[in-house]
Amino acid sequence: MKKHEGKCACGNVEYCFEGDPIDTAFCYCHECQIHTGSDKWFGIWVPAETFKFTKGMPSTFTRKGDSGKEMHHKFCGECGSTLAIDVTVGNFYSVAASTLTKGEFSPNMAIYTASAPKWAVFPEGVPKFDVLPPDMGG
Ligand SMILES: [Zn+2]
Ligand SMILES: [Zn+2]
Repeated sequence: MKKHEGKCACGNVEYCFEGDPIDTAFCYCHECQIHTGSDKWFGIWVPAETFKFTKGMPSTFTRKGDSGKEMHHKFCGECGSTLAIDVTVGNFYSVAASTLTKGEFSPNMAIYTASAPKWAVFPEGVPKFDVLPPDMGG
């Protein structure tokens, strides 16, 4: 199985996951805008059991998602980079594509586009959802 690796800006925290992602999504929700300082978060969604931290211990910021279930943001306490979000409602990690050592993924959908700022840039040729796709409760 293919192994993917990534790390934070200072290199104190590293992670890896194996195999193909479930989804690769641009998320335009307001929380993601705050966390990235941009119009979106590019999340590589991987099953929780395939993801692990391999070096260092990330700090955790926990918030409630739309579902009411907790989202644990894993970030480096030294440089502040967010590496991944533990999305407990779906039992997956949304890995920050920007922290991957090899940037080989493209988005397959855009979600929460109704919350996007008016200067947002949307990907071409992929479905856009105001919130979530219908099969995810959108
Ligand atoms: Zn760091
Ligand atoms: Zn979001």
